[in-house]
Amino acid sequence: MIREVAIVGAGIAGLGLGIRLRRAGHDDFVILERGDDVGGTWRDNVYPGVACDIPSHLYEYSFLKNRDWSRRFAPGREIQDYLRAAARDEGLGPHMQLRTPVTAAAWDAEAQCWTLDTPTGTVAARALVMAAGRLSDPKTPALPGLDTFPGRTFHTARWQPGSLAGLRIGIVGTGASAVQIVPEIARDAASLVVFQRHPAWVLPRDDRGYDPGEPRPARADLAVQAEELFAARLAGSAAAETLETAARAHLRRQVPDPALRALLTPDYAIGCKRAVFSDTYFPTLQQPHVTLEPSALAAVSGATAVAASGARHELDVLIFATGFEAARPPFAKIVTGRTGTLAEHWADGMTSHASTVVSGFPNLFVLDGPNSALGHHSAFEVIEAQLDYVLGGLEHLARTRRPLEVAPEAEAAYTALVDRLAARTVWTRGGCASWYLDEGSGRLTLLWPERASLFRRLNGRFDPEPFEVPAPLPA
Ligand SMILES: Cc1cc2nc3c(=O)[nH]c(=O)nc-3n(C[C@H](O)[C@H](O)[C@H](O)COP(=O)(O)OP(=O)(O)OC[C@H]3O[C@@H](n4cnc5c(N)ncnc54)[C@H](O)[C@@H]3O)c2cc1C
Repeated sequence: MIREVAIVGAGIAGLGLGIRLRRAGHDDFVILERGDDVGGTWRDNVYPGVACDIPSHLYEYSFLKNRDWSRRFAPGREIQDYLRAAARDEGLGPHMQLRTPVTAAAWDAEAQCWTLDTPTGTVAARALVMAAGRLSDPKTPALPGLDTFPGRTFHTARWQPGSLAGLRIGIVGTGASAVQIVPEIARDAASLVVFQRHPAWVLPRDDRGYDPGEPRPARADLAVQAEELFAARLAGSAAAETLETAARAHLRRQVPDPALRALLTPDYAIGCKRAVFSDTYFPTLQQPHVTLEPSALAAVSGATAVAASGARHELDVLIFATGFEAARPPFAKIVTGRTGTLAEHWADGMTSHASTVVSGFPNLFVLDGPNSALGHHSAFEVIEAQLDYVLGGLEHLARTRRPLEVAPEAEAAYTALVDRLAARTVWTRGGCASWYLDEGSGRLTLLWPERASLFRRLNGRFDPEPFEVPAPLPA
């Protein structure tokens, strides 16, 4: 049996597409998810303190509003509950295959469909939608001696339940997850060492709970406010300067010691790496049992964690807040189109047309992949524009019954546009190395380098013009 659509991944993107398909009256689709639940990011990230850093009422589907978020920045558990309820209430259950990792997906030119391998069998579908996430595969550094560590080691996205009370804990990294965890685990730890390779710019968070009956902010208003933040992502702009001044003032207010303040002051432009939000991180670093190690973790020797500075720290638990395989997504290796894999096509970094379709890969749509993350706004904003695009593409496919493959020229033109837009931003000119950039080419391949509204205007509607019927394969 050949299905109309196979969706890989049941996070915000995959579930969103499932909901939109059901609401449009389509039933012939399957969602293949390797995890044992829906939710993606919010199923996997259950560390203490996990929460969104975009206002809750903006971090939801515009077509499935939740008036009941308890806080300005919803805890991860609440977001996960929202996504589970969305899947259940919108009738996605019969379409869902959990515990089903897709190990290979290949275009079958003869049958004009995709063939997906899973441990429980093969799935064939006319269209393939990769909604496998950009922060779904944890990245842990290969450190000399790590295998000699006698205690527990784990990544924040693979949190191991169990008490950390009374233990000597090391946390590696100072990004968004680390800044959320540090204040939480410092409460019970005997000691805590934070390994900082580069300090993060930290902005005030101003989180708070909503009172019962209190009017909630409107999504549209929050979207306008978020969009205004893009101006600060333009390198050298007045808005960037204002934002940096606010971050410096936050640091000055919370860290009186000039020496510690110097260690916590980034040497790159704000926003170049993801800015983080916390009112409790800096105060925690100043507690007597907490140590800021101002260098990377370089090696491990038994229970001793050796920093690049040469400092040695005795630890019982080592936690990696070291991010994800983001710009080079692992799924690229398992998707084979007309002439090769996505990883081969993306040897110099991810490229696409409309951030969603890739030349050489007929009837393939990639959600939340090339240049579709935002540094200033909610992921839902871009993903929802992509859902409109995919629905238009699927309708076109159903009408024509001919494989839909974007022309290489269209992909090249879109890539040139992205590069042009990226060249003005703090992400390429801010003086930092970040996971937004492709490690080989240095191109900005993860973020959309403009406002979300421009993404929607350019990419939120399917246009058949840049597509062509693929040439037959040479014999
Ligand atoms: C801790 C944390 C906090 C964040 N906070 C914010 C925030 O405040 N605001 C914001 O805009 N963004 C935030 N993000 C980014 C977040 O990843 C996105 O907002 C969003 O959740 C991505 O949804 P997704 O569906 O694209 O991917 P995911 O949620 O990653 O879902 C992808 C799914 O695909 C599955 N999958 C992958 N490969 C396969 C395979 N081969 N076979 C089968 N299944 C597969 C995975 O198991 C996963 O369930 C945060 C990310 C993290 C890690």
